[in-house]
Amino acid sequence: MSPTASRTAAPAPVSVSPRAGTQIRLTGVTKDYGLAVPAVDNVSLTIEPGEFMTLLGPSGSGKTTTLNLIAGFETLTAGTIAFNGSDVSALPPHKRNLGMLFQNYALFPHMTVAQNVAYPLRERRLPRAEIARKVADVLELVQLTGRDDNYPAQLSGGQQQRVALARAIVFDPNALLLDEPLGALDRNLRGLLQQEIHRIHSEVGSTFVFVTHDQEEAMSLSDRIALFNNGRIEQVGTPEALYREPETLFTARFLGDSNVFEATHTAEGKVSWEDRVWAVDPATVSARVSAGERAALMVRPEDVRIAGSADAVPPGANAVTATVVDLEYLGAYRTAALALGPRGLAGRARLDAAETDLHPGQAAVAWWRVDRQRLVAA
Ligand code: ADP
Ligand code: MG
Repeated sequence: MSPTASRTAAPAPVSVSPRAGTQIRLTGVTKDYGLAVPAVDNVSLTIEPGEFMTLLGPSGSGKTTTLNLIAGFETLTAGTIAFNGSDVSALPPHKRNLGMLFQNYALFPHMTVAQNVAYPLRERRLPRAEIARKVADVLELVQLTGRDDNYPAQLSGGQQQRVALARAIVFDPNALLLDEPLGALDRNLRGLLQQEIHRIHSEVGSTFVFVTHDQEEAMSLSDRIALFNNGRIEQVGTPEALYREPETLFTARFLGDSNVFEATHTAEGKVSWEDRVWAVDPATVSARVSAGERAALMVRPEDVRIAGSADAVPPGANAVTATVVDLEYLGAYRTAALALGPRGLAGRARLDAAETDLHPGQAAVAWWRVDRQRLVAA
């Protein structure tokens, strides 16, 4: 049984009470520092109560600025921010009642673990006994029971980050804002802390807004992802929707590998690329693509199959000539680097168990099912 399930079965031992969480609505949010483009450019986004929303995007795309606007550390150039329908745009940070977690743990070095975690409760002048109870409960939640009297310097990086997390949620904030909180940790520890954050989110039920540039981290943690590009939101959706149904080439490329054919969506509802004309399933065409326009046909490597010759391609599939350039073992599976079409466009296929006899230099045919391709705005 998962920790979450066992906790639901027993009377809740944690006083960080499960609750609906706060809705955060951004409307036309803009921050202009007077640079060539605004850091955040007319962003509208509704984060639902209790949702785990990730702001994902490359460095400099406006994620931290957006988080700082929600927190009130920066002032809006334009737009509004509302919590549960009330406008907080003019409220200073301490009146927004938000928990914050950053990459550098920012613990008070001269205070013990318990004193660090108690700090926001003392600021709020809670009675001593209630502070002690809440601190004990939240330390149990982050699995640091018994470390109350340690100083930060006596803890590992992962443990310090758990203390910072405990301090950020102990006062029942309206939402928890996390800015690349795992960025300083090594890969294994990052994976562990990701699971912890996921578990804690489901236990406390509050709204989490999580910033990262790491697509795998975003995919594994989020209810929904808002993908940022140059201060704007490129696309919002569940991890699966962004991966399977990207609207643009930027989204397709940011979330995982793909084979990309820069093509034209013909007026006849087909797609043409170099000497090929391929069938299109209308359900796989992004609404941002118009007939007669340039677009990009993308196919994920796991959807590409390799056949020895055109005769072996199933009827109705789309296909292109392919030369096997290289084979790569990645532990759990193998991939083939391919040169596609007459001009040798670089592509990739993830091989299945049957595709064992390929060798570099081999001439073959790459094919995919029409419903596994997607036509996106280029
Ligand atoms: P991200 O968190 O996605 O890496 P940021 O929100 O930090 O991006 O930055 C977005 C853009 O705004 C960048 O071009 C950055 O240089 C600029 N920027 C951020 N903060 C400031 C500031 N205080 N003054 C001027 N420009 C800033
Ligand atoms: Mg940032």
